[in-house]
Amino acid sequence: MSAIAMRELTKVYPNGVRALDALDLEIADGEFFALLGPSGCGKTTLLRTIAGLEVASAGSVLIGERTVTNLPPGKRDVAMVFQDYALYPHMTVQENIAYPLRIRKVDRRSRAAKAADTANELGLSALLERRPGQLSGGQQQRVALARAMACHPQVFLLDEPLSNLDARLRLEARTFLKRLQRELGVTTVFVTHDQAEALALADRIAVMEGGRIRQVGTPTEVFRRP
Ligand code: ADP
Ligand code: ADP
Repeated sequence: MSAIAMRELTKVYPNGVRALDALDLEIADGEFFALLGPSGCGKTTLLRTIAGLEVASAGSVLIGERTVTNLPPGKRDVAMVFQDYALYPHMTVQENIAYPLRIRKVDRRSRAAKAADTANELGLSALLERRPGQLSGGQQQRVALARAMACHPQVFLLDEPLSNLDARLRLEARTFLKRLQRELGVTTVFVTHDQAEALALADRIAVMEGGRIRQVGTPTEVFRRP
C-alpha cells in the first residue's frame, strides 16, 4: 500500500503560474522520500498540497486509503516542518510542542505528558521553559521537529528543515532525522535542492522539473552516470 499517492495533481496559482502539472507520484509506507530539483520547480507547492495548506486545482491526493484532496490540514494525519521552523515566538518550547495537540482538543494533562515525552526523545527536556529567541538554530530545528512529532502523524513533511543550519549541525541533524525515521517508521517526505542531502537521507528520490516528476528512483538509480 502507498502511504501517499498523487494522481494528476495540478496546482495553478491565482496569478496563472502552473506550479504542479498533472503530477503522478506514489510514496511507499515508511519510506524516506526526497523531492529534489531547482528553485521554482514546485517542490514546496507539492508538499503544501499534500499537507492541505494549498488547495489542489485538479487531481487528487490519497493518504493511506483515504482521499484527502478536499480535507483541511488538521484532518489529514500529516505534520509539516517549515524551512524557517515557524515557531511561535511568544510561547515557550513546551507550549510550542503542545500547540498542535491543543488545536486537536487533547486535554491539558495528556498534552503536557506528550510534550514532555517528545521533548525528552529529542533532547529538549532542559529547554522546555525557554522561548524560541533563546535557542540556537539547531535547538529551534529540534523544537520544530518535536512539535510535528507530538501528534504521532502518519506522514511527516519536511521543507528544507536543515538549510538554516551550519555544516556541522546539518550533519548532526541528518543523522538524527535518519534515526527518527528508522525508529518511528513514519513516512517522511523531504524537500531539498541539495543533491548531497538527498543522497545522504533518501530511500528514493524524485527529481522535479516544471511541476512534474522528471525522474524517480533510488539514489543509485537517479545519480547513475549515463
Ligand atoms: P540550480 O542551478 O538552481 O541549483 P540545478 O538545475 O543545478 O538548479 O539543479 C538543482 C538540483 O537538482 C541540484 O542539486 C542538482 O544536482 C539536481 N539535479 C539536476 N539535474 C539532476 C539530475 N538529472 N539528476 C539528479 N539530480 C539533478
Ligand atoms: P520550489 O519549492 O521548487 O522552489 P515552489 O513550489 O515554491 O517551487 O514554486 C513553484 C512555482 O510556483 C514558482 O514559479 C513560484 O514562483 C510559483 N509560486 C509559488 N508560490 C506561489 C504563490 N503563493 N502564488 C503564486 N505563485 C507561486
